[in-house]
Amino acid sequence: MSASGGAPYFERVAVIGAGQMGNGIAQTFALHGSQVWLIDVDESALGRGMGAIRASLDRFVKKGSLPAADAEGALTRIVGGCALADASGAQLVVEAVVEREDTKRKIFAELDALTDPACILATNTSSISITTIGAATQRADRVIGMHFMNPVPLMKLVEVIRGHETSDATTKSTLECATALGKTPVEANDYPGFVSNRVLMPMINEACYCLMEGVASRDAIDTVMKLGMNHPLGPLALADLIGLDTCQYILEVLHEGLGDDKYRPCPLLKRMVAAGRLGRKAGKGFYDYPS
Ligand code: NAD
Repeated sequence: MSASGGAPYFERVAVIGAGQMGNGIAQTFALHGSQVWLIDVDESALGRGMGAIRASLDRFVKKGSLPAADAEGALTRIVGGCALADASGAQLVVEAVVEREDTKRKIFAELDALTDPACILATNTSSISITTIGAATQRADRVIGMHFMNPVPLMKLVEVIRGHETSDATTKSTLECATALGKTPVEANDYPGFVSNRVLMPMINEACYCLMEGVASRDAIDTVMKLGMNHPLGPLALADLIGLDTCQYILEVLHEGLGDDKYRPCPLLKRMVAAGRLGRKAGKGFYDYPS
């Protein structure tokens, strides 16, 4: 964890959605010198997001991997707000709201109207078509997927996804921006789930089916994948980290977009989402997370 010494790639960045991804993205840009507007419709979610950033920066300082002055500097560069209009001065917007196509399209249409025409509008979507989101704007050439991984401050990968109309210039800027953040960008084309979730989600879904059908217990399933496949987290613990609602939405996009029943969300996953067991962010999922 280190802050960059030089000028930021984008001076002014807006992040829409202060949930687990949005707050990590805002923290990462602020640590690399950008002025960041973190925007969420829900004031309490914004408060939790700002709190999560402070706690995360504190942990890095306590571990000795970040100077306290850099952490303080990053905090002073993040301004929270609840109005989308706060994004109006941004050169780059990264949207990280709930994984719903209608919600994202509405936000992109509004961002298109209120930001400078040169501003790049990026989405952190896990699975939804960049082309479809871009078509909600008059600047599909400047709409792109910038898919960070969870937890953002630690994970190196950014999957960069071109929509059908995304320009070479937008792609080049996004790749350079990710590199300037200390990340490793990898390009993917615009198909449901791109690479990361096209490969990951069927594994998580299959782990849910194994649990539902009584093939093995929760702990046994996760232990098999950790010790047998050398995964750092078992698939059920990983689903809790991602959010079970997000996993369900991604599987629905894969199922509908690819038309193959192998992607149908497991009934147990859907039941847990209906019960509010959304994973770590809710304090309970396949595992319990006492606060
Ligand atoms: P989350 O549920 O933690 O947060 C979503 C936030 O969006 C909430 O705070 C909510 O209040 C806010 N929101 C909803 N509608 C809004 C609106 N109209 N305007 C502003 N804010 C709004 O979700 P998350 O896990 O942070 O996921 C966000 C996005 O990132 C999704 O598209 C998801 O697929 C993607 N993603 C998630 C992960 C992961 O591991 N969770 C990884 C990569 C990408």
